[in-house]
Amino acid sequence: MSRAHVDLLNMDWSTRSCARNGHLTFAPTDDRYAAQLSVETPVGQAWKCLRCGAFIPGPAFSHGPVEHAPSVLHDRQIRDRVIIRFLAVERGIRGFIVLLIGFALFQLKNSQETLESTLSTSLPLLKPFADQIGWDINNSRVIHLLDMFLEVAPHTLWIIAVALIAYGILQLTECFGLWFQKRWAEYLTVVATSAFIPIEIYELTHSVTFIKAGALVVNIAAVLWLLWSKHLFGINGGASAAHDDALVGKSALDYAVALRTTVPAP
Ligand SMILES: [Zn+2]
Repeated sequence: MSRAHVDLLNMDWSTRSCARNGHLTFAPTDDRYAAQLSVETPVGQAWKCLRCGAFIPGPAFSHGPVEHAPSVLHDRQIRDRVIIRFLAVERGIRGFIVLLIGFALFQLKNSQETLESTLSTSLPLLKPFADQIGWDINNSRVIHLLDMFLEVAPHTLWIIAVALIAYGILQLTECFGLWFQKRWAEYLTVVATSAFIPIEIYELTHSVTFIKAGALVVNIAAVLWLLWSKHLFGINGGASAAHDDALVGKSALDYAVALRTTVPAP
């Protein structure tokens, strides 16, 4: 494993998140917790950040009973959210491009030309978008196969356009669900991505491009990572383990108390 790879795995996600979003301090009314989460410094009282463990001088960001402690995402959860959002963006871009191509084909559905010639006339418009996701429409095995089977059908383009629009909507649905960390979106992504992996492999048997091969690797990794890390289908502890990931109220404070104490910020 390369040094850069190791650094990525060991990255202090909590510290990075605090640098970006500010620290998360909370003054509980419970004296026992308050004593463990605050210190006196030469510049006054400092409160321990619930996320990164640094003592931050000045009044706490919020205060109240223990059970009102804010919910805290920490190291692994922050890293997971970054990965999930990467997947969401990747699906959003692909969904948007496929949807665009689907609608463009839909516009041409009344054309009497064959799919091949229609594609070549519309290609100047569609090609840059397809290139973005590493999809060579003119050389696509799946499209050729569909074309072969559907050549005699009068609604060839219509069927392909509807299929592309449906696929685009599916990708955008995954995008929105993953971005907002919905559990149904994790299941939908695993099931839908797995279903398309054989098609991606079939596409690769025709021509291998860096983007296509990369997309396949990302999709296989995403499925395995979601299954394991998000405890889907009862794997790795199942739903109860997934539920335990959230830190709110008392558990957020217990987590902060156990955090390695860092030097108070100047
Ligand atoms: Zn912090």
